[in-house]
Amino acid sequence: MIVVMQQECKKEEVDHVVKLVREMNLTDHVIVGTERTVVAVIGDDRYKDRNALESCPGVDRVLQVLAPYKIASKQAHPEPSVIPIGGKHGATIGDKRIALIAGPCSIEDRPKFLEVAHAVKEAGATGLRGGAFKPRTDPYAFQGLGEQGLEILAEAREQTGLAIVTEVMSITQVDLVSQYADVLQIGTRNMHNFNLLIAVGQTGKPILLKRGWSATLEEFLLAAEYIINAGNTNVILCERGIRTQEDYVRNTLPLAIIPAVKRESHLPIVIDPSHGTGHAYMVPSMCKAAIAAGADGLIIETHQDPEHALTDGAQSLTLEAFAHMVQELKAVAAAVGRTI
Ligand code: PEP
Ligand code: MN
Repeated sequence: MIVVMQQECKKEEVDHVVKLVREMNLTDHVIVGTERTVVAVIGDDRYKDRNALESCPGVDRVLQVLAPYKIASKQAHPEPSVIPIGGKHGATIGDKRIALIAGPCSIEDRPKFLEVAHAVKEAGATGLRGGAFKPRTDPYAFQGLGEQGLEILAEAREQTGLAIVTEVMSITQVDLVSQYADVLQIGTRNMHNFNLLIAVGQTGKPILLKRGWSATLEEFLLAAEYIINAGNTNVILCERGIRTQEDYVRNTLPLAIIPAVKRESHLPIVIDPSHGTGHAYMVPSMCKAAIAAGADGLIIETHQDPEHALTDGAQSLTLEAFAHMVQELKAVAAAVGRTI
């Protein structure tokens, strides 16, 4: 922290700040400039109360130097983390091969889901998505098949070997969903549900953590920190779009988060261009851009009949469109030294 004193501050006020800093078991270094005096605070001040210093007489402002997240940060782990995601083929996220997780928004019925599972596997997917418990804004909309959906997911993994990724919406579902899923998804609406983050952290399963639609990058990484602190380092960040004033897209997809995450953290980042745009026609372009920008994976809604999908049909690729897109993505991946 750096405590910037007011221009007219008194010597006793500086002394008081120094006293408080020492009480916090931190070291002070007072720098008297021509216009301002600043007190540089030396030591790990992440868990210290900066408000106490901010409200002292004579203090103008307090600047935080260290990011508040610690174990999610690059300093804690300079090498990128590679997260095993399960399935029969030892799939991972965070290394040279870009992970492709595809499947419908929701599991609607067994034969249709199995058809999608086989098709995306054939096209090159490494993971299979599908919601059994759906967080719907509209309480009257399809809420998912629940445990029956989980059973269908497990059968699809058995048949295809793909790692399965599915959402857990509440603490009460954690045990049940963990019995079936390879990767637990935390949806955007739950990124701030800290008790749920701790509960999934205790499972040891890889967690796909979606960014809250109004969360800052710092809040996103602090949410990851909750999971890691609970004992689970297998956290995969997922950008799924944020809310802005723009209404020609469902959400605004800020791909600049990719280089930002790479600078700040060792955790891999996956892009969800389906929720990130809301329109199937935009998905291939955003996938190409995401790969070019350094994304470690993509999660893409894919449906055998988007026009009749129970949820999110407008943003779902057909099976043919998905297969075609994967071919195009291979060239982009190769151009940036990755594979698919
Ligand atoms: C989903 O992946 O289907 C989903 C509900 O995502 P989000 O939490 O990003 O809205
Ligand atoms: Mn969806």
